[in-house]
Amino acid sequence: MINLLGMTLPQLQQLCVGEGFPRFTAKQLCDWLYKKRVDSIDAMTNLSLLQRARLNEMAYIGRSFPVRCQVSKDGTKKYLFGLTPDPSSKGRGEETMGLTRYVESVFIPRLSAPLAPARADGSEAATLCVSCQVGCKMGCRFCVTGQQGFHGNLTAGDILNQLFSIPEFEQLTNVVFMGMGEPMDNLDAVLAATQVMTSDWGLGWSPKRITVSTVGIVPGLKRFLDESQCHLAVSLHNPVPQERLQMMPVQKAFPLNEVLALLRRYDWSGQRRLSFEYTMFRGLNDDQAHAAKLVEALRGLDCRVNLIRFHESPEAPFKTSMPTAIKAFQDYLNRNGVICTLRASRGQDIDAACGLLAGKE
Ligand code: SF4
Repeated sequence: MINLLGMTLPQLQQLCVGEGFPRFTAKQLCDWLYKKRVDSIDAMTNLSLLQRARLNEMAYIGRSFPVRCQVSKDGTKKYLFGLTPDPSSKGRGEETMGLTRYVESVFIPRLSAPLAPARADGSEAATLCVSCQVGCKMGCRFCVTGQQGFHGNLTAGDILNQLFSIPEFEQLTNVVFMGMGEPMDNLDAVLAATQVMTSDWGLGWSPKRITVSTVGIVPGLKRFLDESQCHLAVSLHNPVPQERLQMMPVQKAFPLNEVLALLRRYDWSGQRRLSFEYTMFRGLNDDQAHAAKLVEALRGLDCRVNLIRFHESPEAPFKTSMPTAIKAFQDYLNRNGVICTLRASRGQDIDAACGLLAGKE
């Protein structure tokens, strides 16, 4: 069975031609899937009964409501989704590789700049943080998701379902790919999902409303930069190579200097934004020497740094930096020409903050 949700217009055209449907049927399918966001083929009333019957035989719309919603005292909501059930599908891994078959998304009604600034009309930004994998292969030592291991890729439809199936869809101003998983490790699905979000036959959003994060998988990153106009956030966390390696195994295969060399080949002075995520760990990366090395590493790059308070968890043996150290670090960067903000922590009481998503049922 084919999941129609997540298919692009060219893919739907190919499907229609293969079935002997008129080519314009693909555009009608896009309208039903992405403009009207129906969840059943039978609701596509301008398709003939024969077309609907054939589609019902071979395809489905992979919409599924979250199985749980936890609400934080600050209004943040964490949704738990089961993966789209498709009895005929094999290969995503969840059938055989483990028990984890859930992913989480976090709805943040309002987020401090720079990720989601308030809109020009004064209304507040509302951001959804989506997952792209069940678990993650990257094994970052400070991340609860990373400690779980990898249990499968999400499809483009699974990614889009996280937006489409929450009651707050109409409020969304921004989407960030900062949930479970490494987007460059599931790039086909991430690019297809962002194409649906940004194309006029899809949601028609500006790519400025979407931020994709990465630890810096160079081949995927290059392809992303060439094929997408969405904003980029790179997880940096430590400018000292040997120390970064201790926290982030990816540093071995793709050292930070190679990531930065690639980023320097692109123009960041226009609409597309480059930011670096830097989680503050007490005594590990939060002193002035690290701040100076970070300034040096980013010299000449048009970018900003987002500091993140580390959210302590029993799974990770690290402590969060003292507020005075965070302030001093931030001031040092700002004084030395690197725009630096401190990301507001949201949803910590429901384990929805950065690095805490576990997809536990
Ligand atoms: Fe994966 Fe991101 Fe966690 Fe690293 S921080 S293990 S890339 S989910």
